[in-house]
Amino acid sequence: MAKLGSEFELSDDEMHLYSRQILLDGWDIDAQERLKFSNVLIVGCGGIGCATGELLARAGVGKITLIDHDQIETSNLQRQIAYTSEDIGFYKAEILAKRLKLINPFIKVDVYYTNLDEKNAADLIASQDLVLDGCDNFTTRYLVNTVCKQHDVALISASAIGFQGQLFMVEGESACYECLFPKEHHADEGFRCADSGVLATTPNVMATLQAHHALLYLGLNKTPLKQKLLLWDGLTMQQKILSFEKDVDCTVCQARFDHS
Ligand SMILES: [Zn+2]
Repeated sequence: MAKLGSEFELSDDEMHLYSRQILLDGWDIDAQERLKFSNVLIVGCGGIGCATGELLARAGVGKITLIDHDQIETSNLQRQIAYTSEDIGFYKAEILAKRLKLINPFIKVDVYYTNLDEKNAADLIASQDLVLDGCDNFTTRYLVNTVCKQHDVALISASAIGFQGQLFMVEGESACYECLFPKEHHADEGFRCADSGVLATTPNVMATLQAHHALLYLGLNKTPLKQKLLLWDGLTMQQKILSFEKDVDCTVCQARFDHS
């Protein structure tokens, strides 16, 4: 049900911008306002962060924080849709932030030109409604998972390598990334997109699914991938969704349990 009078939070210009969304069956002004008052952190402004950031900006997520320490290189342009050849050498987070503000002047965009690390992670994550991980390395991925669990912040994590993509959500009491992929089993800690091939479309498919899930969660409080792993195969175009269980030995989930 729409809010009335002084509680009405969207301006006429915003109503116009989001009109095709507000017209949607199952998406109303309340859902649009929930987006407007949402804080989202995007970890990594590569192939996934570029597309997910753009979609969330267009859809009307009110505050987007970007963190990435990389500068744009020629080999990024094949898949990282926010950047052009004129942007080479500039910080990805800077160029992406400018683009998001151009696309949607009604939103706020914060930028950090650094890596997410043990020192800044808690400060950056604790105040968010949702974290979208699209980083390119396992060290950051595990750290984001741990800090999101510690501070009870929802996480939707997307990854893409070659023709394959993965997506999952950690929320509330759900199992976490370490339940799914225990750290000690990860010998290939340094494995990154940079060291392997990736088709232009793969990260963009996964980013679109990630952004879509983010809108479902922020606008409608839906969590279809909570404690589930979506696997997308870009050669067969098949998608599988697997449920996973909490690992009783997971150090992240246990730490959180001891905390509460
Ligand atoms: Zn866990």
